[in-house]
Order: sequence, then C-alpha cells, then structure tokens
Amino acid sequence: RAMDDTDLRPGERAIELDPPDDARLRFIGRIRTPFASRADCPRQGRHDGPDCVLELDPVWGGALDGIERFDFADVLYWLDRSRRDLVQQSPKSDGALRGTFALRSPVRPNPIGLSRVRVVRRDGPRLVVRGLDCLDGTPLLDIKPDACSYSPEAPRKAADVAES
Ligand code: SAM
Repeated sequence: RAMDDTDLRPGERAIELDPPDDARLRFIGRIRTPFASRADCPRQGRHDGPDCVLELDPVWGGALDGIERFDFADVLYWLDRSRRDLVQQSPKSDGALRGTFALRSPVRPNPIGLSRVRVVRRDGPRLVVRGLDCLDGTPLLDIKPDACSYSPEAPRKAADVAES
C-alpha cells in the first residue's frame, strides 16, 4: 500500500476524508491574532506577546487532547498573502541580497511559517498561545508538542537507539 493506512489501535478515532491526490495540504483551522496588517505583525513572535488563538475546525478539536501537558509547541501555518517567486531577496530593502533559504522571510516557494509558542490554555477546539507573528485569519497547518519535553507515546524502535 502506498499510504500508511494501518489499522486503528484501541480508542483511536478517524474521520471520513477525501483521499489525498498529491502533496496538497489541508488547513486544520485559522489563527486569530491582533495583527490586522503586516505593519502590525512582529517580525518574529515573542513569548511575552499578546494571546493568539488557534481556532481548529471542530472535527479536529479532539486532536488537541493532551496538549495541555506541554508548556511549548511548534505551530506551522500557511503565509497565504505572500508572493512565492523570489529566489533572492533584500530584506532590508537596501539592495543587499540574500537567498530565500537563508532567510525566515514569509516570501518563499512554499510559504510555511513556523513558530515555537507558549501554550496558555485550551478551550475545546481553541488553543490559546503566545509567540505568533502572523496576520489575523492565517490558515493553520499543524501543531506539534515541543520536541525537548516530548517523550514518544509509541514503543521505541531499533532506529531510535544510537549505535555506540
Ligand atoms: N515565524 C515564522 C517563521 O520563522 O517561519 C514567520 C516569520 S515571517 C518573517 C513573519 C512575517 O510574515 C510577519 O512579520 C508579516 O510581515 C508576514 N506575515 C504574517 N502573516 C502573513 C500571512 N498570512 N501572509 C503573508 N505574510 C504574512
């Protein structure tokens, strides 16, 4: 089988979705921030910045179960109002060029934003966080608990054990 559509384990829950036909991403919700324009957005979010809300589509609300145990999480989002065709950019508009992949600019071929956020509280399908830098209404792609404090819930595999 091409996809990893293994059987469900006890208690796991799946929902009916169309089969994916390419690498297209599925938005899981929207991000609510106080930033209405690019000028209002910080260049990078701060953990002492304003509360922002990850508003998940209700079908994904249960996917937040357990997130409260983490102080930090990585949030991935789609910088939907970016152009996507620049190979080199001048971030300070001073003519000094940098390659797109040497920058964290929102302008990139796949405009994926990544922020490490502080988890403030969960309220059903809404997760309140601090540390975002995106415009109000930005599409949400994924949420992952902080890798440092994350101990996998699945059994270890041979490949997890370092060779000495
Ligand atoms: N923290 C993310 C990262 O490092 O991947 C994004 C950094 S990027 C420099 C943040 C900037 O992107 C904001 O200051 C704003 O100018 C711009 N931006 C925010 N939301 C956007 C959106 N939905 N579409 C396009 N640009 C956006």
